[in-house]
Amino acid sequence: MSERQAKLLALAGELADDFATRAARHDREASFPVENVERMKETGYTALVIPERNGGLGADLIDYALCQERLAQGCAATALSINMHLFGIGSMVERSAGGPRDEMFFDLIGRHRRIIGGGISEPETGGDWGYFATRARRDGDRWVLNGRKVFTSLSPVIDIFMVMATLEDESGPPASATFAVPRGAPGAEIVETWDTMAMRATASHDLILKDVRLGEAAMSERRPIGPIDEAGISLFAWFGVSVAAIYTGIAEAALKFAREFAGRHRPMTLPRPISYLPGTQFAMAEAQALLAQSRALFFQTGAEYMRDPRSFAGAEGLARVVMPKYVATNNAVRIVDLCMEMVGAHGLHRKFPLERYYRDVRAGPHHPLSNARARELIGKTALGVSLAEAPRW
Ligand SMILES: Cc1cc2nc3c(=O)[nH]c(=O)nc-3n(C[C@H](O)[C@H](O)[C@H](O)COP(=O)(O)OP(=O)(O)OC[C@H]3O[C@@H](n4cnc5c(N)ncnc54)[C@H](O)[C@@H]3O)c2cc1C
Repeated sequence: MSERQAKLLALAGELADDFATRAARHDREASFPVENVERMKETGYTALVIPERNGGLGADLIDYALCQERLAQGCAATALSINMHLFGIGSMVERSAGGPRDEMFFDLIGRHRRIIGGGISEPETGGDWGYFATRARRDGDRWVLNGRKVFTSLSPVIDIFMVMATLEDESGPPASATFAVPRGAPGAEIVETWDTMAMRATASHDLILKDVRLGEAAMSERRPIGPIDEAGISLFAWFGVSVAAIYTGIAEAALKFAREFAGRHRPMTLPRPISYLPGTQFAMAEAQALLAQSRALFFQTGAEYMRDPRSFAGAEGLARVVMPKYVATNNAVRIVDLCMEMVGAHGLHRKFPLERYYRDVRAGPHHPLSNARARELIGKTALGVSLAEAPRW
């Protein structure tokens, strides 16, 4: 481990231990841990992936994943929320060719500790990222946005909503773009809808956009709607590897609890604690093997991607960056189930964190690409079937 990694991990560990003391309360109340975000701003964690010259901590993809894995062990909702800010920035830093516009944006996050997020998912399009029901139309020199975004994690503290929309009335092939919508822009409203069984403290509310008017400078990342491009693969690489790490972190927290519980819990009918039972040992072995698989895959994919992002091209490249998230989120569900099996009914008690881990990991497979879409992509590319093939199935 490099000196930089050790320093970053020490910070993630310190934050995780602090956030863990409040995680159960925020989960119970479905309240957003604003104070955690303040602490992350103070310590520079919100600028984790921003270059040091812009006031950030300079983490690369692997450093970032390691930190998020550690943070999730303390408070998974905080780790997932801040991930919606960090992953896109990491991808932007990776793709940046420099220039005043990029430097200004990185300064905004690094030096001024602004928070971005939200703006991709919609009720109409679900996890089908790439095409958006939200529309942007031209009106003179302004863009006018209309639509509804859902699952806007981090919504209480986002300064700039990064809203993806389909461009209307454009000549040429259909295109989409990302619009920077400042908090408080007339017509942009958060509606509090988030009341779920998992990741309750992420405040992933709805963002309503009604005739939101923006200048030309608010638009970036304009691209034709169609097959995934390099920028899309980069976004999925940063998203997939970090989400894999977060859900692996939850699984590790569950295993830590199960290990401690199994070492001290001794029913009267047994001579020794339940850690001596073959069932406990076999469940622990299976969980450890799944954990090792998840970690190996997100490390390996992250390292390969960092070494040569251009080698991840087209549907095959996308399938490679989607794989760690697919494997790790599903493994996390299985690992936490095994922990429940080891611990037994005590695991259902709210006084223990295991039931929260059990609920939180359930969100993992729903992040893009969902299980069904990931299987389609991985299966079709491995079979040599084009994703553009019609009919689709
Ligand atoms: C905790 C949490 C936080 C999130 N935070 C954010 C955020 O901050 N910003 C953001 O933009 N999004 C966020 N998301 C949303 C996420 O990125 C997805 O867009 C969302 O989970 C998709 O919802 P869905 O499964 O209902 O989608 P749908 O697309 O409606 O899918 C419903 C079901 O149908 C299946 N399905 C649908 N279409 C197909 C198809 N063509 N082929 C195969 N199967 C299909 C899916 O696999 C799924 O099982 C978050 C999600 C969660 C769970």
